[in-house]
Amino acid sequence: GDIELRQVRENVWEIPESDEMRAPARVLASEALLEQIGQDKTLEQLQNATHLPGISKYAICMPDGHQGYGFPVGGVGATDCEDGCISPGAVGYDINCGVRMMKTNLTYEDLQGKEEELVDALFRAIPSGLGGGGVVKGDMDTIEGILERGMQWALDEGWATEDDLAHCEDEGFRDDAKPEYVSKKAKDRGRNQIGSLGSGNHFLEVQRVTDIYRDDVAEKFGLEEDQIVVLIHCGSRGLGHQTCTDYLRRIEKEHQDLLESLPDRELAAAPAGSKLAEEYYGAMCAAINFAWVNRQLIMYRTRQVFENVFERDWEDMEMDLLYDVAHNIAKKEVHDVDGEERELYVHRKGATRAFPAGRPELPPAYADVGQPVIIPGSMGAGSYVLRGGENSLDLTFGSTAHGAGRLMSRTKAKQEYWGETVQEELREQEKIYVKAQSGATVAEEAPGVYKDVDEVVRVSDELGIGDKVARTFPVCNIKG
Ligand code: 5GP
Ligand code: MN
Ligand code: MN
Repeated sequence: GDIELRQVRENVWEIPESDEMRAPARVLASEALLEQIGQDKTLEQLQNATHLPGISKYAICMPDGHQGYGFPVGGVGATDCEDGCISPGAVGYDINCGVRMMKTNLTYEDLQGKEEELVDALFRAIPSGLGGGGVVKGDMDTIEGILERGMQWALDEGWATEDDLAHCEDEGFRDDAKPEYVSKKAKDRGRNQIGSLGSGNHFLEVQRVTDIYRDDVAEKFGLEEDQIVVLIHCGSRGLGHQTCTDYLRRIEKEHQDLLESLPDRELAAAPAGSKLAEEYYGAMCAAINFAWVNRQLIMYRTRQVFENVFERDWEDMEMDLLYDVAHNIAKKEVHDVDGEERELYVHRKGATRAFPAGRPELPPAYADVGQPVIIPGSMGAGSYVLRGGENSLDLTFGSTAHGAGRLMSRTKAKQEYWGETVQEELREQEKIYVKAQSGATVAEEAPGVYKDVDEVVRVSDELGIGDKVARTFPVCNIKG
């Protein structure tokens, strides 16, 4: 495109402030990644984001960035809570889409010969795909409880332990949740999906740890080479999607003046302090709570499957949660802006919080090492555990990447790949066992549709926003 970037230093590029921009924009990427980022509308969307009222410092694109609805996936935008705004498009449709990693004390050797049995059992036990059904069949009271209390609901109902809560971002529960601002339609969509993966990009993956980069941090995280871990990626399902849709429509209608001042209607935003900003924030926090419960119920089922396959208790296999991180979220956080402490709505869309040691939000277990950051790669590549880096507060409002980032559209992917072939190759060449509801899903999510995760993580590490701790590789993978 015609967007001019100025290199600030290695891995840091800037779109200088001009015309109606309210701040500059920054892209954090190597030259190779920047070239990929420049191939779709990402840079234009990033520049558009700088028009949002109250945008602080700069709009930021992470190394895994690609185009999304209005605002890039892999984007961070922090807007002032007093005179700024909140934008559903800068959170994303899948509110609190995120990942959690559960550890085990099993080794890769313990799994040999059992891969097939395990992947089949997981596929049977964990609801996935477009069809309805979840781990829990929810009446309205159930939904209200989940939206109101998140992981505390799961604890009260026997689906979670205290320890599980202590290892979720925000302890798996947002006090600001206002279920009354979530529509009946959204609640109805959620009812049959409590504890379900969904389809497409969401997955559950059994992995083995292949590399450790920082021994001291890995030890604190309880990670070592050859260990088996489980990664769960999903979000708030139809409930979150409906909530985003509901508020986009209302905000477009009720805040037309603001809408007309923005270069793209997909960025529609509610002014800070408005009734609608408050309602959206309360509804979004409720959807956030739903997503945490969703991932928890899937983890609960996973523990049961492991108990059956390995004939041991999950406690005995030390199937403890490392951490659960959100990557589609907006949160009120206090950050330093030009030497002043400001309360900001930090929009992280396809971006992960990466707080270093010392931030008060960190749970006791990670207070003096920094939080675990989980970055999935693809079903045929490595995934990473990082820890929040010392430079993240300064450079990215405490954030880093959320994945490898998409390189190819789903349509193009289906022309390029054939699901069964991909599955077969992974199995023959890499000993990765993939099971999916449809071949199309496998094609759409083939390893080749994603950027190079090693490169994304290298940039994060070099910038000191998220430091490499460990790398994993897939063994079994289920998809919707
Ligand atoms: P998103 O939330 O944007 O849909 O995806 C997050 C990231 O997950 C993607 O950028 C991609 O790198 C990664 N990913 C997608 N499918 C898989 C998978 O099957 N296994 C692993 N480990 N990562 C995946
Ligand atoms: Mn999602
Ligand atoms: Mn996601």
